[in-house]
Amino acid sequence: MDELTADVVVAGAGPTGLMLANELALAGVDVVVLERLAGRTGLSKALNLQPRTAEVLDLRGLLGRAEQRSFTTVPEGHFAMIPVSYAGWDTRHPYQLGIPQAQVEAALEECLAEQGVKVLRGHELTGFAQDEGGVTVTAGDVRVRTAYLVGCDGGRSAVRKALNLPFEGFEGRGHGVSADVLFRSAPPGAPTEWRSMRDLVRSAASPGSFVGLIPLAEPNLYRLSYGDRLNRPADLRAKVTDDEVREVVRGRFGDDVEIAEIRWASRFSDDARVAGRYRVDRVFLAGDAAHTHFPAGGQGLNLGVQDAVNLGWKLAAELKGRAPAGLLDTYEAERRPVAEAVLANVAAQTALIPATPEQGALRLLFQDLTAIPAVQHRLSGMVSGLDIRYPSREPHPAAGSRLPDFPHGDGHVSDLFHKGKFVLLSTTSVVPPHPDVVVARVAALPWPDLTSVLVRPDGYVATTTDSVGDRLA
Ligand SMILES: Cc1cc2nc3c(=O)[nH]c(=O)nc-3n(C[C@H](O)[C@H](O)[C@H](O)COP(=O)(O)OP(=O)(O)OC[C@H]3O[C@@H](n4cnc5c(N)ncnc54)[C@H](O)[C@@H]3O)c2cc1C
Repeated sequence: MDELTADVVVAGAGPTGLMLANELALAGVDVVVLERLAGRTGLSKALNLQPRTAEVLDLRGLLGRAEQRSFTTVPEGHFAMIPVSYAGWDTRHPYQLGIPQAQVEAALEECLAEQGVKVLRGHELTGFAQDEGGVTVTAGDVRVRTAYLVGCDGGRSAVRKALNLPFEGFEGRGHGVSADVLFRSAPPGAPTEWRSMRDLVRSAASPGSFVGLIPLAEPNLYRLSYGDRLNRPADLRAKVTDDEVREVVRGRFGDDVEIAEIRWASRFSDDARVAGRYRVDRVFLAGDAAHTHFPAGGQGLNLGVQDAVNLGWKLAAELKGRAPAGLLDTYEAERRPVAEAVLANVAAQTALIPATPEQGALRLLFQDLTAIPAVQHRLSGMVSGLDIRYPSREPHPAAGSRLPDFPHGDGHVSDLFHKGKFVLLSTTSVVPPHPDVVVARVAALPWPDLTSVLVRPDGYVATTTDSVGDRLA
C-alpha cells in the first residue's frame, strides 16, 4: 500500500474535479486527484461553455485554451430549444462556445500538469474515513491522508453514497439518448454548421418525443439526440444498440440517409436530484456528484465548473488559516440554490416538449412570449449563469453580484484575477500592496456611485464599503 499525504483529495477528473484541482494548485494547495478510469475516454457529453463559464475561465487566463479547442461560437442560448439572446447582458462573452467536454477536460488537465499536478488514473476511490484531524482515503493500492476530500465523482458518486446523503428531487418518466453519428452526407434539412439553436430539433413521431442534430467539428459528424419524456425503457443502463440509432434516423430523416459510423451512444434519464447536503464535516460534493438533471439548456458541466471555482478559494483560505469562521459553509449556502434553480428551469424546459395538443399550444405561446426582450433576458440569464448572485448583508446591489469585465490598462480587469486572489478596485484611494489582494486603481466602476469594491477570487463582489481600502492598509 502506497501512503500519500495531501491538503485536499479530489475524487474524479471530470470537468468539476479538474477545475477544482487547478484552483487549489493555483493557491499553492497540495492536491491529489484520483480518477477511476485508466485513460481518457475522449467521449463528450457536454458540447458548450455558457457565458458565465467563459467569464470564469477568463478570470484564470484559461479561456484561450478552450477557444483553441472549440469548433464554433453560437451567439445565443436556448430554453427548451427556443433560441434566447444573451445580448442584453453586460458580458464580453455573449455566446456559447461550442467545445466538446473531452476538450474542456483536456485543456484543464494540461493546465493542471503545468502546475505540477498529475491525475492518478486507474485509482478508484473505494472508501474513506474521517475524524477530527482529517480524512483517510483509499483508492486501490493507495491510501491518502488529507485535510479535506471533495467528491467530484459524477452522478453515481461513491462519495455521496458513502456519506449516506439523500439525493432529493424526483424520478422522471422519460429518457434521452445522445450519440455522435457520422453520416455519408448531411441529412436533409440538417444545418452544416452550428450557428443557431434554431432548426436543430424536429418533433418526433410520438407525443412527448424529440429528435435533434447538432453539427460537430468534422463534416457530416453530428450529435444526434433523441428521447421521450413520457416513456423510459425498463433498463436505463442498457446499451444503446446501433440498430436503435439507425431506426431513429430512418424514422425522422428517411431511408436514404446513410450512416457511416456511430462513434458512441449513451442513454440518460430525466431524473432531477440534488444532494441533501454538500458538506459533511471534511467531505464536500461538487458537480454532478451534488446534482443531476436532464441535459436541457446545456447547463450541467457549467454548473460543475462554477461549483469548483466557488469552493476552491474557500478551501485554500481555510487551509492557509485565512478564512473567517463559517466561510466553508457558504459553499453550500451559495451553490445549492443555484443548482435548485437549474433543476427547476430544466423541469420547465422538459415540460415544454409537447405531449398533447394543449401543450403544443402552450409551447407556441411561450415561444411568442420569448420575443419580448425582458423575457429573453430573464431566460438567457438563467441558462447562461449570468444571473447568479450570492446573498450579501450589504444593501448595495453590487454586493454579491458578478463583476462585469471592463477594459483596464492594456487589457481587462479580468486579467487581475489570474492568480486566484481577491481584487480590490478603487477609483480614488491608492492602497499599499497587500500579499493576499491584488490592488488596482481603475478609471470607473460598473456602479458609478461606488468608489471601491473588493471582489472575491471567483469574480463576485464581496464588499462595496468604501473603507475597505483603509482596512487593507
Ligand atoms: C448526453 C449528455 C449531454 C450533455 N450535454 C451538456 C451540455 O451540452 N452542456 C453542459 O453544460 N452539460 C451537459 N451535460 C452534463 C455534463 O456532461 C455533466 O454535468 C458533467 O460531466 C459533470 O461533470 P463532473 O466532473 O461533475 O462529473 P463527470 O463528468 O461525471 O466526472 C466524474 C469523474 O469521476 C470519475 N469517478 C467516478 N467514480 C469515481 C471514484 N469512485 N473514484 C475516482 N473517480 C471516479 C469518473 O470516471 C469521471 O471521470 C450533458 C450530459 C449528458 C449525459
